[in-house]
Amino acid sequence: MEVVYEGKSKIVYKGETDGTFIIKYKDSATAGNGAKKQEFAGKGAVNAKITKILFELFEQSGIETHYIKTIDETTVLVKKAEIVQVEVIIRNIAAGSFSARYGIPEGKILPFPTVEHSLKSDALNDPLINESHILALELASEKELKEMSEKALKINEIMKDFYKKANLTLVDFKLEFGRFENRIILCDEISPDSCRLWDSKTGQKLDKDIFRRDLGDLMTAYNEVLRRATNV
Ligand code: UDP
Repeated sequence: MEVVYEGKSKIVYKGETDGTFIIKYKDSATAGNGAKKQEFAGKGAVNAKITKILFELFEQSGIETHYIKTIDETTVLVKKAEIVQVEVIIRNIAAGSFSARYGIPEGKILPFPTVEHSLKSDALNDPLINESHILALELASEKELKEMSEKALKINEIMKDFYKKANLTLVDFKLEFGRFENRIILCDEISPDSCRLWDSKTGQKLDKDIFRRDLGDLMTAYNEVLRRATNV
């Protein structure tokens, strides 16, 4: 297969038919923009499964995603979208860079979900970017920005409810959108690599912070998220 792009956690190949890509989830985990890197056997398959569950759930709620079908444990067929070079981050609870930037203790529940954007650029370390800058740099149109924010907030409500049933608190997450046939659709993945998930009762972290902060065994946590998500 012809490689179109290789990222930190996925390889994108040309699909067999026009308008498709084949995405392979890798087992590597990176943190601090690649400063820390490790392989975790089975991570790609677990993230592919969690993403499939969520993307099918969003489709049922009328949110179009790039997901077409699963090819094998780590490989999926997706629509060939043009990725908007802006990451959308939704936060329900203060954590990570938000806590560090504003001096807010991790765990503070925010009065409403916040929408944040960062420029998708490893070279620049994904800097925070505001809407005016996004428009001035022509990264997205006003209409696209509005659509991405609305979809991200709707996804937040769906995911919060879903994970609540799995006894998990959705703290924050990152989304990537793409342009496909003049529509904005959800792309990339949504997994414990890109979400913060805390056990609802104990507050135990079940996401990539385990790797970022050396808190224990990553795959035990990811498998637990998958187990609970499968049983919702
Ligand atoms: N996130 C991500 N990719 C990024 C940056 C952030 O998936 O390049 C996710 C991260 O896992 C968390 C949320 O977005 O669920 C908010 O991350 P934050 O800005 O707090 O970043 P961090 O603490 O990782 O620097």
